[in-house]
Amino acid sequence: MADTPIKPVPIGAGIPPAATGTTTQAAAVRKNAPKSDYKPADVSPQRRMQRSWSVRLWSVRHSRLLEWVYARLAETFLALHPLWKAIGYGRVEAPVKFVEKRVKGFMFDCRMCGQCILSSTGMSCPMNCPKQLRNGPCGGVRANGNCEVEPDMPCVWVKAWEGSRNMVKGDAILNVQNPVDQSLRETSAWLRVTAQAAAAREQAKTSTDVGAAA
Ligand code: SF4
Repeated sequence: MADTPIKPVPIGAGIPPAATGTTTQAAAVRKNAPKSDYKPADVSPQRRMQRSWSVRLWSVRHSRLLEWVYARLAETFLALHPLWKAIGYGRVEAPVKFVEKRVKGFMFDCRMCGQCILSSTGMSCPMNCPKQLRNGPCGGVRANGNCEVEPDMPCVWVKAWEGSRNMVKGDAILNVQNPVDQSLRETSAWLRVTAQAAAAREQAKTSTDVGAAA
């Protein structure tokens, strides 16, 4: 039997466009998806949130104002610590979480990670990054400042830097953040910060009292 001649294969043939460096992986997946009359408008959590980018971006533009509002909110919550404690943090969690989720969801597209670092990220929630990076952008930010994975979405870290430049304590963006503790998802960051601040305040007071008595 005669051997079938082997045809030369052009370099790059059969390799998705993403691998050739000419386009992104997301674009390649979209292009190669089966075609039908049904074209979903929302193909990822980020695209589902696209409608509210305008609010998210407004929050970044007004990061200084929101920094001030957040500081007042934190003071109020801390002042109410005796009340939270009397009622029981466990009992107030559900209503506080209900409000927190809706307010921060509307303002920042909050994902309720439970470890809020908005004040360190220019009021741009890092959990909206498709890679959920908490310490700066990946290497794939586009030339126009948009996300590598979601080409229509501004990179949350580009926005975080812009927002931080407006804030009084904006240099907090340089702090290294811990990895996300997934066990804290869907819990109230407001209550956690309040309880931790109250504990720190009581500890400082105890140390002062001990020092004065010595
Ligand atoms: S950092 Fe966490 S708690 Fe804060 S807005 Fe983002 S998802 Fe919500």
